[in-house]
Amino acid sequence: MLRFRSLASGSSGNATLIEAHDGLHPTRVLIDCGLGLRQLQAALAADGLSPTDLDGVFITHEHGDHIGCVAMLAARYRVPIWTSAGTAQSLKLPHDADAPVHHVGDGQVFAIRGLEFRPFTVPHDAREPLQLCCTDGNRAWGLMTDVGHVTAHALSNLAGVHALVLESNHDPDLLARSAYPDFLKRRVAGQHGHLSNAQAAAALAVLRHDRLNTVVAAHLSERNNRPELVARAFAAALGCGEQDVLLTQRHGRGWLAV
Ligand SMILES: [Zn+2]
Ligand SMILES: [Zn+2]
Repeated sequence: MLRFRSLASGSSGNATLIEAHDGLHPTRVLIDCGLGLRQLQAALAADGLSPTDLDGVFITHEHGDHIGCVAMLAARYRVPIWTSAGTAQSLKLPHDADAPVHHVGDGQVFAIRGLEFRPFTVPHDAREPLQLCCTDGNRAWGLMTDVGHVTAHALSNLAGVHALVLESNHDPDLLARSAYPDFLKRRVAGQHGHLSNAQAAAALAVLRHDRLNTVVAAHLSERNNRPELVARAFAAALGCGEQDVLLTQRHGRGWLAV
């Protein structure tokens, strides 16, 4: 069984737990770690878990809302890390034999116990950002946040997933009218910034298929977006009711099956 739980999403912090269970041994991997240690401990404790129950952490890129306490997870709990070489360099992660940092790149499949991951390159203003797909050999899950525009490469990587977490960061009109300084507006809306609701919906229209069961809108801007705008865009793209669109924000959401 493959399932996932968003622990937090948005500019204040991003972390997603993915879990495979073969009936005997669970595999649990944290994707991004944009929480303080206490916050992470509290989020894991809600499932009776602690950081020692993590088999690994994958870091998509070095922005502050994705890294949080990752260095402490490695140093104190010996949780191994997988990330790109560029992200590892930006984070200055020390190489520790007890908590190794594994470098992975675009298309380089790797396994953490019962889960297999395939990272892929995305356009974002970080050193070597990756997003990823994951499978337990039966079901497939995809994650794509922090993306300036949707590429054919990203779409081909995400094709066929049964569950998808997809950034829907901003509404262009709210962003244009916001109190953000101009340089930040340009950055967010730019080719290496974040996906608008319309960009996310256009990607969904391509990725939609009969066995795509679960879609969660993620990394919503608290200032430049509104949940009802995301629900409207996703519902139109998926052909479902607005009330059926799933979102994750600051406080995450509970387990969802893939
Ligand atoms: Zn982010
Ligand atoms: Zn970012």
